[in-house]
Amino acid sequence: MSRFFSEKYKDLEPYAPGEQPRDQVYVKLNTNESPFPPCEDVIKACAETAPTLRLYPDPDCRDLIKKLSEVYGVCEDEVTVNNGSDETLNFAFMAYCDEGHPAVFPDITYGFYPVFAQINGLPYEEIPLESDFSIDVNKYKGIGKTIFIANPNAPTGIALTLSQIEEILVSNPDNVVVIDEAYVDFGTESTVDLIHTHKNLLVVQTFSKSRSMAGARLGFGIADKSIISDLNAIKYSTNPYNINRITASAGVAALNNESYTRNNCRAIIENREYTVKKLKELGFACTDSKANFIFAKSDKIGGRELYLELKKRGVLIRHFEKERIKDFNRITVGSREQMDALLERIGEIL
Ligand code: PMP
Repeated sequence: MSRFFSEKYKDLEPYAPGEQPRDQVYVKLNTNESPFPPCEDVIKACAETAPTLRLYPDPDCRDLIKKLSEVYGVCEDEVTVNNGSDETLNFAFMAYCDEGHPAVFPDITYGFYPVFAQINGLPYEEIPLESDFSIDVNKYKGIGKTIFIANPNAPTGIALTLSQIEEILVSNPDNVVVIDEAYVDFGTESTVDLIHTHKNLLVVQTFSKSRSMAGARLGFGIADKSIISDLNAIKYSTNPYNINRITASAGVAALNNESYTRNNCRAIIENREYTVKKLKELGFACTDSKANFIFAKSDKIGGRELYLELKKRGVLIRHFEKERIKDFNRITVGSREQMDALLERIGEIL
């Protein structure tokens, strides 16, 4: 740290993204990316857009917003797009949290939430998950704070039902409830349709997982138009050109081929169920994940040791040092070949 760095950031603990080592080619199952390439139309759109890079992108992203509103059955002024859903989430922390409205989220959840709170100097509270890693919605009812819930949750993959989320929304009418649906397309019902009945709901989604576009950085928020206008005020006060031209055109192309996305999601769900079954046969305990990852603990080997042994053998999975989950690992669901390679190496190690 230089001597010039602002005092206000002295305690900042930056988010640690999943590692990307370059010493060998790994079976990469550590950052919840899709094993499938983006669809052909996306690749074509990127190539066709490249010659126009001389020009700034459309800050209103009109084509993309129009397409998203059609696909999700909402109005154009109920959608905002950002540079990855991380940016939408950060804007939500900036817009809806302060001393009078602390942020609240589970103790085990997406590791970026506390970082967003810290960088913005915002108070936050973590509510412990139950011993089986489920969320007890009663603990969020009438809490009077700005609520952030990943549904399904990460890294557990466990999902709440729509009616459980509605209970939280109804009991906190004066607070924004952010439902982070990064993994919703792998088997959970989306809350998007609730935005019309619950004006305090902000749904956040991403193109990074189900649409195979993590590298394009494209996320979006869907909510009542008043919330969207708040988030856009922050966007236009930080980086109006947050979606570059290539990403915007790639997003439209992806949305024009929803069947490609749905087929890929089906394959991931099948591979998840296949891998969970095999892991259980090997003595693992797995949570009921509805995401594109598995959260698993072995009765024969510690979480960190398994992660290190797999890395030696060319397979990357994600291990978290946090006390409550240090026996577990998060394993991204990849192609069937990747899953078989993982299972084979685990068999060797055990
Ligand atoms: N929310 C959750 C729960 C996540 O796991 C991730 C991915 N790391 C994100 C949001 C952010 O995804 P992106 O910025 O790629 O849209």
